[in-house]
Amino acid sequence: MNLSELTAPFEKALTEPGEQVRQWKAKQGGRAVGFLMTDVPEELIHAAGFFPYGIAGGNAEMEAADAHLQPWICSYARNCLALALGGKLDFLDGLIVPQNCDTTRMFSDLLNHIRPFPYMDIFRMPRQVGRSSAGSYLIGEMERLKYGLEQYAGKPIDHSDLRSSIALYNRNRELLRRIADIHAQNPNLISSRDLYTLINGSMIMPREEVGELLTAIREVLEGLTGSGNAGNQVRLLLSGTLLEPLEILDLIDQCGGTVIGDDFQNGFRYIESDVAIKDDLLDALAERQLNRIPSSAFDIEHRQRRYYLTEVAEDKNASGVIFLHLGFCEPENFDSYDNLQAMKRAGIPAIRIETQFGRSTLGQIRTRIQAFMEMVGGDDSGCR
Ligand code: SF4
Repeated sequence: MNLSELTAPFEKALTEPGEQVRQWKAKQGGRAVGFLMTDVPEELIHAAGFFPYGIAGGNAEMEAADAHLQPWICSYARNCLALALGGKLDFLDGLIVPQNCDTTRMFSDLLNHIRPFPYMDIFRMPRQVGRSSAGSYLIGEMERLKYGLEQYAGKPIDHSDLRSSIALYNRNRELLRRIADIHAQNPNLISSRDLYTLINGSMIMPREEVGELLTAIREVLEGLTGSGNAGNQVRLLLSGTLLEPLEILDLIDQCGGTVIGDDFQNGFRYIESDVAIKDDLLDALAERQLNRIPSSAFDIEHRQRRYYLTEVAEDKNASGVIFLHLGFCEPENFDSYDNLQAMKRAGIPAIRIETQFGRSTLGQIRTRIQAFMEMVGGDDSGCR
């Protein structure tokens, strides 16, 4: 199969969200458990025998949610609620809501009240992940989550099943990182849009199938590496809570840019770092969680997000940073000024562009990206 045939299932999964879950359920008779953001240890969901489904996108009729949410609630939560109320998550049997921010804290209660799923749980991450007590706290929270999943599954999560799930997830993350690396070196081989289609598709497809497809994609790309023009696109670092909509990547590609990294929940934060395979697997899951790349939702004193982003921009030789700021994302609002100041002090061109689930105006975003690309020296003729 060629590259476009291999990437097609990921595109299809994103354009027909839930379809693969329905097919999987019809074939296996299993149940699906969704999760918000990407801080939930989904290896536990997989090891319990459920289909893990990461909700990072999907267009919904927001009006249904507007009746229940204050105007200042982020459009991600609004979109998730609208999906649930509009029946677009009916293929899910359960939902885990991580407690990332004030919005997610109230979200699980609200959903429980107006549209409960048969199985619902929350996942409480420590806010100050650098504290010495964070590890033991998080292991306790993993044990609680695991117990709840076992109760719903009606059977214990076997150590060897969890080990296999972790190995599968590690493999998929490793493959995605390798493909991201090939993209950064040879953006002409695989575009930014295609890379993030693979990452986002991998959150909602059967993980075994994801592994097989990614292995084939990596092989095709490795075979093409070194052939033809690697491309001279302007290297850009993106930053934000969630990347939405993915069409923004088309604008960046068209404007002569290429994405070489990010800290999105549905981007590099999803694929960065693996879980160590060791005797205590809950400890290993907690370890990965505490060492993930910084995010606005958590404080990491020894690894502050603004300095992390500056370092990545410098290490990866980025010409600029685009902050895609999800409107009304409260943790992001707190970080935004410091992030922009850090880039200014480091002499890295940066721009902040506001996005909204379901309500982003691509025309305005195009104009801002085009202006930024002119500033950092890109060939923006393709986006005029
Ligand atoms: S972290 Fe931001 S985007 Fe995510 S639920 Fe909270 S406010 Fe919304």
